[in-house]
Amino acid sequence: MSVAQVSSTHERLERAASVFDVQRVRRDFPILGTSVNGKPLVYLDNAATAQKPQAVIDAVSRYYANDNANIHRGVHYLSERATAAYEDVRRRAQVFLGAGEAREVVFVRGTTDAINLVAHSYVRPRLEAGDEVVISAMEHHSNIVPWQLACGERGARLRVVPMTQAGELMLDAYEELLNDRTKMVALGHISNALGTVNPIKEMVRTAKERGIPVLVDGAQAAPHLTIDVSDLGCDFYAVSGHKMFGPTGTGLLYGRAELLEAMSPYQGGGDMIETVSFERSTYARIPAKFEAGTPNIAGVVGLGAAIDYLLSIGRASIAKYESELLQYAVEAIGGVEGIRLVGTPRERAGVVSFLMEGIHPHDVGTIVDQEGVAIRTGHHCAQPVMDFYGIAATARASFAFYNTREEVDSLVTALGKTHELFG
Ligand code: PMP
Repeated sequence: MSVAQVSSTHERLERAASVFDVQRVRRDFPILGTSVNGKPLVYLDNAATAQKPQAVIDAVSRYYANDNANIHRGVHYLSERATAAYEDVRRRAQVFLGAGEAREVVFVRGTTDAINLVAHSYVRPRLEAGDEVVISAMEHHSNIVPWQLACGERGARLRVVPMTQAGELMLDAYEELLNDRTKMVALGHISNALGTVNPIKEMVRTAKERGIPVLVDGAQAAPHLTIDVSDLGCDFYAVSGHKMFGPTGTGLLYGRAELLEAMSPYQGGGDMIETVSFERSTYARIPAKFEAGTPNIAGVVGLGAAIDYLLSIGRASIAKYESELLQYAVEAIGGVEGIRLVGTPRERAGVVSFLMEGIHPHDVGTIVDQEGVAIRTGHHCAQPVMDFYGIAATARASFAFYNTREEVDSLVTALGKTHELFG
């Protein structure tokens, strides 16, 4: 399919998205029918990984049943089918992300892989001693450690945009941090620990006005918001397939063509070269230059099905439903005796982090699991956020569009029992 055809199919899918019916949507996810300890599963760990609709499961098994072959190399029937399926997803991903060209979409293993790619191939070679990379106080470890590694090697410095007790970034301080030595700004779109939706478009503009490249970690945004990298104006945008209802081991890195072209390869191997001799190799054009070796072809096909599925539900319907559900959840969880919410941002999506007086978050997680309710406890790969609040861990409920108010009520009842027993 051409990009124009993909765009018009996407528009048709989003227009055709009927009124949001959560019970109908739930039937698309077989795992949601699971019982846990004799109780219906209440899955509130979506920020860690989302469940998969039957359409994604079927796309992966159909691929293996009908199309499986290695891509880009064979002239035979199956290889051509597999290559077409894989490249077709690239065009769908381009439209999904709002990228100008399909070659600006690199298939990766996930957000972690995408950020490491940019840190290694874009930032590291351009960093000199005394340079700076700016991140924020609420980043996931995946958007801290790769920059720390690059800075450590080059004698550069990591600078951190501070946040308030509410869990919002301090924009004045951000502006003050940017200077001639800033070689990269890397910011999370939505915090996985607090749920804060950062004013990312404004923050990108602030950096771009000073000629500084920006990477956005969109791991938590892709399942909840419409992403439009052209509108955001960022240079790189990273997402994980498994958090947006696709297979694990898949992800997308959007990179502005000009920058991707100027970057050195990340990994060497098959598919990323043009010519190889023992003296020297030349590299393939983008995006193949960054896709060494046999990729997760079946996973990418499944990711394409996830994109289609999200569009068929309608991203505007998803955002509206989720925002009402989240508001309900924030009030209901916050109203349980002994609960303190961690982070109270004005703009929030997907996540509610909390503590219960007198009981460790891990114990809260274990007790509510007895009631069939799956939440996450721990530092959520955001230890600096925990340090900021002077705590070791939180309990975190995280939502998807298939969750319901009744499920929030189940969590609240389970939390009430926990408080009675141990609080
Ligand atoms: N950034 C954020 C904000 C995340 O929530 C996560 C996953 N929890 C990641 C990066 C890393 O994603 P992945 O493990 O899929 O590479």
